Amino acid sequence: HSPEKPATSTRAPSHLFYQSRLRRPLVDRAEGIYLWDQNGNRFIDGSSGAMVVNIGHGNRHVIDTMKEQMDRVTFAYRLHFENQPAEDLARRIAGYMPDGMDKVFFVSGGSEAVESCLKFARQYAVAVGQKQRWKIISRFPSYHGGTLGALAVTGYAALTDPFTPMMKDMPKIPAPTAYLDRDNLSMEEHGLRYADRLEETILAEGAESVLAFIMEPVGGASTGALVAPDSYYSRIREICDRYGVLLIHDEVMSGVGRTGKFLGGDYWNCRPDLIALSKGFGSGYSPLGAMVAPSRMVQPVLDTGGFQHGYTYAGNPLACAAGGAVLDEIERLDLIGNAEAMGEVLRYELVELSKRFPFIGDVRGKGLLLAAEFVEDLVTMKPLPKEQNAFQRVVDIAYDKGLIIYSRRTRGGVEGDHFLVCPPMIVTRQQIGEIVAILADTLR
Ligand code: PMP
Repeated sequence: HSPEKPATSTRAPSHLFYQSRLRRPLVDRAEGIYLWDQNGNRFIDGSSGAMVVNIGHGNRHVIDTMKEQMDRVTFAYRLHFENQPAEDLARRIAGYMPDGMDKVFFVSGGSEAVESCLKFARQYAVAVGQKQRWKIISRFPSYHGGTLGALAVTGYAALTDPFTPMMKDMPKIPAPTAYLDRDNLSMEEHGLRYADRLEETILAEGAESVLAFIMEPVGGASTGALVAPDSYYSRIREICDRYGVLLIHDEVMSGVGRTGKFLGGDYWNCRPDLIALSKGFGSGYSPLGAMVAPSRMVQPVLDTGGFQHGYTYAGNPLACAAGGAVLDEIERLDLIGNAEAMGEVLRYELVELSKRFPFIGDVRGKGLLLAAEFVEDLVTMKPLPKEQNAFQRVVDIAYDKGLIIYSRRTRGGVEGDHFLVCPPMIVTRQQIGEIVAILADTLR
């Protein structure tokens, strides 16, 4: 990366428009954990895009598999044909799922995967004679997608506020934040207390009207890799069972190996009823996502007229061939094992940085889904002044030094700052050294 050639150059006005006025350089090529812009600047992809390119860029096996598939057939509409890559991928995915989660419904992204879970949950309830159930409880902060259904269960004010009149007002409970407010409770008690907020909310809403609870087992961007105390997960399951509420796990970011296990939820005995997957599933080679459900729930829906939902591009042969080849590489290179091992190395380094830079108040996550949160005061955990926009500045400074990281407001999109360091799961110890060196320079 050469500072003489600034990454953010001035260019002619574009007909494209993205989410903000920020201009970024034109990408030229990518290989492994690196990307190059058209000026020849090299960037380390320290966030795998948005925690997407889990197996790294330019993977030959995936590219060759996709080329072969393209020579054969790229698209055949699902109401006209089934296809072998989709069959094979569904079978392999089912093999990674908790017991009984044996049916896969393909989509093309994370929002579609979550939307499918919400709509499927509702159709299942109707199919089994529980038509009165429709409310979906979620957590604050959270991000579950940009479509209006997924957004209705998202707890992130900056993203939801403009659209609230267009959405159903769904109940939210706070996510457990042991690092902020333990109130002298043990970790276990803290977990139980926060899980019990679900029960209180179910009762306040009227248990018979509550359809589902959705959460990320290992938090992603909105919470900064939040992990709850162990006690939380089993208590959530118990409460859902007690009131007949479905448990939906959004594993869009945490799934497909990133946390050091295939699913983030595999760290605990959570037994979700529905699982949403995307991002690392296609690993950036193709848009791809899925809802995974058990046969016992799929059957009643199929028996009562079928799932009234679907997307045109879903489960196309090219996307599924890409997904299959991504899984081949995850298995061949033991990338889940590497995510666990390199996650430990990176976590150690982040903790070391937190000793040097006292404005890092917390380091957390699992495997290579890791985040650090900034605070003004280590005792009160008061966030940095909002106007400092530390979450954006850390990204911009690192970017100009050739390191891409990901950041968000921590506390519901309102205040607080964290950044995530989530390199591809192929990352080596030496590359972590490179990342940490630039990070230290950025923080300084
Ligand atoms: N759920 C989670 C947990 C996510 O992180 C995201 C994307 N950041 C989504 C859903 C939505 O995925 P997509 O952007 O692919 O629609």
